[in-house]
Amino acid sequence: MKEFWSQRIRDMVPYTPGEQPKGRTFIKLNTNENPYPPAPGVTAAIQAAAGEGLRLYPDPECTQLRAALAAYHGVTPEQVFVGNGSDEVLALCFQAFFCGGKPVVFPDITYSFYPVYAALYGVDYRLIPLNEDFTVPVEAFLGENGGVLLPNPNAPTGRALCLDQIERLAAGNPEAAVVIDEAYVDFGAESALALLDRYPNLLVVRTMSKSRALAGLRVGYAIGSANLIAGLNCVKNSFNSYTVDRLAQAGALASVEDEAYFQENRRKVMHTRTRVAAELEALGFTVCPSQANFLFASHPAHGGKELLDGLRSKGVLVRWWDQPRISRYLRISVGTDGEMDALLSALKELL
Ligand SMILES: *Cc1c(COP(=O)(O)O)cnc(C)c1O
Repeated sequence: MKEFWSQRIRDMVPYTPGEQPKGRTFIKLNTNENPYPPAPGVTAAIQAAAGEGLRLYPDPECTQLRAALAAYHGVTPEQVFVGNGSDEVLALCFQAFFCGGKPVVFPDITYSFYPVYAALYGVDYRLIPLNEDFTVPVEAFLGENGGVLLPNPNAPTGRALCLDQIERLAAGNPEAAVVIDEAYVDFGAESALALLDRYPNLLVVRTMSKSRALAGLRVGYAIGSANLIAGLNCVKNSFNSYTVDRLAQAGALASVEDEAYFQENRRKVMHTRTRVAAELEALGFTVCPSQANFLFASHPAHGGKELLDGLRSKGVLVRWWDQPRISRYLRISVGTDGEMDALLSALKELL
């Protein structure tokens, strides 16, 4: 095995995505997908784009979608970059902004894809330990950095920084790109978009996978200064000019155009989250305050792996990491009310 592989790839430990089960039907609370369908106009838009036009390459600049996102967020199209999922946008950030010799910093407990990108692109990184309660020690992120990368709200904890704290990160690292991964921001946290006018080093990365229920379409985007966006385009166009296909551009545009559906969807998820957090606490769980579409919870009497396996045997998938500091925790995506009721009854039986 690994014959002919380059040395860097031999040494790589790739990211492990949450399981997408086949066969048996599980209640899937393990990958933070949205439990509700995408906006109704999305399917029709994709169908309309799925005709003879597929003969032609997609618009490499995603002109229409970028214009719609720019209008939606109150920025110019030159401040918007669209990619094949925000995972791709983040990978492009590592190549565009983080290869400068000094280490990029991110929390010890965070999205586990970050260290994988760092290894893939040969970028040095330094882990900053979160505080005991999983809040972010903002001071520790200021100073000599080759870049700052942080999800807000953080994953898998769900805890969010407030706008003042994000501003300190941007202001305290004037020489480095500060990338805020807002994959979950629509579920209740404050967006760093409000700071973009004042911080040319700040980049906000978003995804349509979670709050817009389009994980299967693969659309993510970044908003920042025209300079940072040009850096992302430079890397993208040195790699693959057509990362966002015609169906994805059409479907994403239709989603952005249905604001009422979007607001209703995120409101439902937040409502269920509040209810389930209280019910988990009533069962004895410690639940991290969450601004995301998942709950991070531990139980004093039952380990994380034990609960993970127990839930699986009862047909419920959640996420667990065999990692220091968090091995007693489960990350539970917020599903429909019915799915969450099934989770709660399975937990009651297990406890
Ligand atoms: C889900 C997630 C992403 C990836 O989203 P895609 O757009 O589906 O690639 C990025 N960052 C964090 C923190 C996530 O949880």
